[in-house]
Amino acid sequence: MAAAQDRRVTMHALVGHEDARASVATAHQRDLLPAALLLHGGRGIGKQRMALWLAQLLVCQKPGDEPCSTCAPCRMVLGLEHPDVHWYFPLPRPKGAAGDKLVEALEQARFEEIADIREGALRPSHSEEVRGLYLGTVKSIRARAHKRPVMARGPIFIIGEAELLVPQESSPEAANALLKLLEEPPGGGRFILTSNEPGRLLPTIRSRTVPLHLGPLSTETVQDFLEHHAGVAPDKAEWAARLSQGSPGRALGFLPDTDERGPLDALRRRAYELVTASLAAGTAKGYGVALGFPPAGARGLVDLFDFVEEWLRDLAAVASGAKDAVLNHDAVAELERRVRDSGIAPFAAADAFASVERARELAWANVNPQLVIGGLIRDLSGALRGGRAAAVRT
Ligand SMILES: [Zn+2]
Repeated sequence: MAAAQDRRVTMHALVGHEDARASVATAHQRDLLPAALLLHGGRGIGKQRMALWLAQLLVCQKPGDEPCSTCAPCRMVLGLEHPDVHWYFPLPRPKGAAGDKLVEALEQARFEEIADIREGALRPSHSEEVRGLYLGTVKSIRARAHKRPVMARGPIFIIGEAELLVPQESSPEAANALLKLLEEPPGGGRFILTSNEPGRLLPTIRSRTVPLHLGPLSTETVQDFLEHHAGVAPDKAEWAARLSQGSPGRALGFLPDTDERGPLDALRRRAYELVTASLAAGTAKGYGVALGFPPAGARGLVDLFDFVEEWLRDLAAVASGAKDAVLNHDAVAELERRVRDSGIAPFAAADAFASVERARELAWANVNPQLVIGGLIRDLSGALRGGRAAAVRT
């Protein structure tokens, strides 16, 4: 215990992304790093952690291929307390606050979350809470951008999940205010945006940032991260890493919290329920599943649909005899039984992807979730069961 208390409080290490680190470090050495970068890639693979690494490189007094991690500015970034490195990310909307009070409440919530991370809290990439980057957040960024930096050449802003600037706000005001800053960062300012859905960023924001893609990590790297940075037992770490698609943040979401299933594991099972409901004869089960969803908050379904696609891909893999390619590695026997019992052809599962894509668009448009799910089960049933489903529906 004493050793743990003596240890300097810093956030966890950056793992993986060696190629991206090398190209960024080379660009920095040649003073060619753009003032506005967009790190994009899968959810939970460490984009915001990479952005902090980059901020560290920018303020480091002895940067080489990596930030030195020993100079004072480096240590301040690692302790999330550098006065010129400002990390923003989506937050739940504070209740009952408006105007300047909202700006203050958002800043308070952000500092509290950063304090938790500084103490070692690891955030899974999945959250049931509705979070956003609100106009209040952009106002606070704008105010800081016009202040003189304390010790760095200019302020460095990290904006995580930047695509949430638009859909959470009914007007594009927040995105437009940010746009002005990106166009001409005041006082040597730098912006590092991250997004797992760069296609949903305003085109004007996309065109003002230089993209850098971060790929998934290897399963071994994720497993190693879980064991050595999150204290997960090796067997659990391996199980979660294999489900994670190369994303430590996703892997954390699968792991149980005390006796509760991990949120992503629960979501994955709900997605499976949805797929099996569409394989069942008759529509009653489908309605039952649809009515089990709340009538509002359709955007929360987007994550669910990723899992529906995963199960469809797995069904297609099993149906075509490629069970080694199954992502839900702990459900192979169950999938084989389903394919045998329902006689799913590989092409039928592939056809079903279009249904999921339609449902995803409706969810982004905030259509009632019960309607979206009901429609999806009907469409999937049609695609997976072919002629049989059509007969039931008429
Ligand atoms: Zn340094």
